[in-house]
Amino acid sequence: MRPTDLDPAFISHAPGYWSEEATENWHDHRWQLRNRVDSLADLDARLNLTDEERAGVLLAGTKLAMAITPHFFNLIDRDDPNCPIRRQIIPRIDEGWTAPEEMADPCGEDSHMPVPGLVHRYPDRVLFLVTDRCASYCRYCTRSRVVSGVGEQHLETQWEPAFKYLEQHTEVRDVLLSGGDPLLFSDDRLDKILTRLRSIPHIQFVRIGSRIPIFLPQRITPELCAMLKKHHPLFISVHTNHPRELTTEVRDALGRLADAGIPLGNQSVLLRGVNDSVEVQKALVHKLLMCRVRPYYLYQCDLITGSSHLRTSVAEGVSIIEGLRGHTTGYAIPQFVIDGPGGGGKIPINPNYVVDAAAGKVTLRNFEGNIFEYPDPTPISASALEELHQRALSRSV
Ligand code: SF4
Repeated sequence: MRPTDLDPAFISHAPGYWSEEATENWHDHRWQLRNRVDSLADLDARLNLTDEERAGVLLAGTKLAMAITPHFFNLIDRDDPNCPIRRQIIPRIDEGWTAPEEMADPCGEDSHMPVPGLVHRYPDRVLFLVTDRCASYCRYCTRSRVVSGVGEQHLETQWEPAFKYLEQHTEVRDVLLSGGDPLLFSDDRLDKILTRLRSIPHIQFVRIGSRIPIFLPQRITPELCAMLKKHHPLFISVHTNHPRELTTEVRDALGRLADAGIPLGNQSVLLRGVNDSVEVQKALVHKLLMCRVRPYYLYQCDLITGSSHLRTSVAEGVSIIEGLRGHTTGYAIPQFVIDGPGGGGKIPINPNYVVDAAAGKVTLRNFEGNIFEYPDPTPISASALEELHQRALSRSV
């Protein structure tokens, strides 16, 4: 970990390895996408790879592609194989091994798809998988079975049947657009999708899940924000795992979204060697608040194939929440959740603050370990009620 990782100051890492590039190119999101680091030769030209990474890159092409935007690549420490950015984005040989508990579809999404691309697992809301492409690819991606297009499965979203399903299912009031990353679409295409959703009267609320503000802040243009603003109420959940990801460019991109009136939440995944300590999590959530983003969920890493080197125990997550609760602003504390393997949905996990729950009272401990008793309400007695009536009567004469 670099000393600056725990520093609340925002830093720009540009242009880094691309110092020869014209400034207007650097700020162009299309240039960033065209110049992603996506081959072993690209990596070798810039990093000192370990043998484990080299083998991981060679194996990645049949599972989840490797691609890293120049913006995000600049956050990597070139000499430290344990760099928390590097662990998230550069394949390792460990990815090739599937632990017995791991699954291709750990959240059971495929079995809850009434129409290809539309996951209807909760009663009043749906997950709409609109693309299989992202600006960069996270090695722990829950949807790596379809994301990036190189695995065995392919996402084939059926647009018209999906819209028809939403029109017919009046119980659906909330649609989450995800993928892949919906903000990779052009403004015009996104506008058309949002307009179509907004034309369905019972859909009250639309959310977009995106890591683009972190991987590709150049994509958050004033034009994009102006278009999104037409479709309120619209929320965006971003995905940040480590405080180094919150650069000046990312802070400014998030500020543009917030200025467009879009409430922003952050979803993090708890990852070994990336953010599995109270100090890193605290630095992350504090910086998120400074970016006007509310830390929303901290996910226990799903049981995705080839993820055991990145997963922690559940107890480690609980102890991180314990290290935050009471020790910092309540707004800064995400809800720690496990997505029930096989399709159980999000299950909140909390430290146990209830020491005892006897009849009539609970015994609690606070963040300092001090014990408190909270009694259930005592019902008012008939005699106390009568006395109050008498007192009220005496005031009315
Ligand atoms: S941005 Fe999201 S969908 Fe894309 S690879 Fe990362 S976790 Fe998966």
